[in-house]
Amino acid sequence: MAKTGRGNEKNMSGVSRREMLKIMGAGAIGTLFPGAGHGQSSGSFSTSGGDGLIFLVGDGMPLGVIKGMHQVRTRVYGEKGTNFYSKMKAPYSMVGYMSTESLSSIVTDSAPASVTWSTGVKTLNRVMASLPDGRPLKTIMELVKEQGYACGLVTTTRVTHATPAAWITHQLNRDNEDAIALDYLKFKPEVLMGGGSRFFDPLRRKDGKDLFKGFSNEGYDVVRERADLLNPEIGSSKKSLLGIFTSSHISYYLDRLNQAELGKKQPTLPEMTRVALQKLSKNPKGFILQVEAGRIDHANHSNDAWAAILDTCELDLTLAVIDEYLKANPKTIVIVTSDHGTSGWGINGTGPEYNDSIEALKKYQPIKASFEVIKTRLKKEMALAEIKDVFEYFTTFRITDEEASMIQAAMQPDYRPFHGDYVFQPDAVMGKILAHSLYDKRKGMMEGPALIRRGNVGFTSTNHTGEDQILLSYGYKANQLGLNRHVDNTYLFTAMCKFFGIQHQNPTMTEEEAKPFIKTASLEEWRRHMELHIA
Ligand SMILES: [Zn+2]
Repeated sequence: MAKTGRGNEKNMSGVSRREMLKIMGAGAIGTLFPGAGHGQSSGSFSTSGGDGLIFLVGDGMPLGVIKGMHQVRTRVYGEKGTNFYSKMKAPYSMVGYMSTESLSSIVTDSAPASVTWSTGVKTLNRVMASLPDGRPLKTIMELVKEQGYACGLVTTTRVTHATPAAWITHQLNRDNEDAIALDYLKFKPEVLMGGGSRFFDPLRRKDGKDLFKGFSNEGYDVVRERADLLNPEIGSSKKSLLGIFTSSHISYYLDRLNQAELGKKQPTLPEMTRVALQKLSKNPKGFILQVEAGRIDHANHSNDAWAAILDTCELDLTLAVIDEYLKANPKTIVIVTSDHGTSGWGINGTGPEYNDSIEALKKYQPIKASFEVIKTRLKKEMALAEIKDVFEYFTTFRITDEEASMIQAAMQPDYRPFHGDYVFQPDAVMGKILAHSLYDKRKGMMEGPALIRRGNVGFTSTNHTGEDQILLSYGYKANQLGLNRHVDNTYLFTAMCKFFGIQHQNPTMTEEEAKPFIKTASLEEWRRHMELHIA
């Protein structure tokens, strides 16, 4: 992450190149990636005796967004490389692919996807560590806890969200987050960190229970602010840790970087991971830790390319913290993967012969806020001129009246561009507008320069997608687990059991046996689920 150095060369007028670029409105080229120092500040790692398994998930992180992140870090911010790519290229790494189907669908939801990892069994969409008929499935965390290992879950979503929760809870509906928080209190993971205070707070829970007090009574350190988490006493304390930093999900990394008050209150994923590893490694036997960059998925559901890229950058920075841990603790394996694709992420070729593609990707860089934040400023009653001003303020792009009217229409509650299909709006329209470039088309050929040039990330929908996902592993015993090939998602449970020397077989059901248990949501229920899921 070194500076390119070129930025400080003085030209003949005595103005540095960087100052020149700033004047020209291209100030970020050659500057350091804004979050490069995150996670490096709160203490180093000592060597522990136990075996560790770190399972790093980018939720809804298809290869497209990983590559987009790599292009942005190297070509927009001028860095030498990314942690993700250097790990994928390392001779000691195992690289494979994983299929992601659930028992009810070739396109999985996060709940059964995480259940395949935690139990080795496929179940229905929305169901947590249980078979469709309600029989509970034993999870990897339950199995290793019995053997004396420590357990940790760290996420940028609500901690009660599907990916972390499916390693603990047997609830039949992932949206039952009040009950999931209680299941955590029963299970007592040594580390639990992320967002979602609304499911712990007596004023917000339906049963009025105070789970912060509940955890504290069980001997936990409870932290609610970044500064308290970074207090060295928390990392060195022998107590278990509950860290809940926001009411719902932790803000997008893009928004934490741009709004000082968010960045001050909410820790980064690398920071949470560092403290989690400091604490879990105190267990002499070892530990299992799931770390989730959980909102890449949300940004992709929103067709918000820049928020997705920056949350993937945060995962990349987390890999650096994990690497530092591995240097002091070589008896640790790291598995990095994603549970499913989201919205068919792709960098579209742009301009004549596609030669403007990197220029178009660079156009996302000045964007100052996620769609989540932009939407708090857009109102469905707004005039076109106001919509144009808000959009320009956050994205720098001056859109046309026609484009502003598309956003205005997409904000109306009865908006139905495609009959019967649910598309998350106005997000999808904004994503499309930001991915728009226009070229002169003479003689049927595209000619540059661009008349309008914005970004170029295209999305197929606002839904999950069914493509295979990357599977990267390295570290202790990594070459003994059979992860260097194409595997089914259920195989990861087998691999983790193998790592810990555990033998366990959960019961299974066939697709045919599961059919009577499949529930179909109405369009309205689906809309409510999506809003609860993302916001
Ligand atoms: Zn997911």
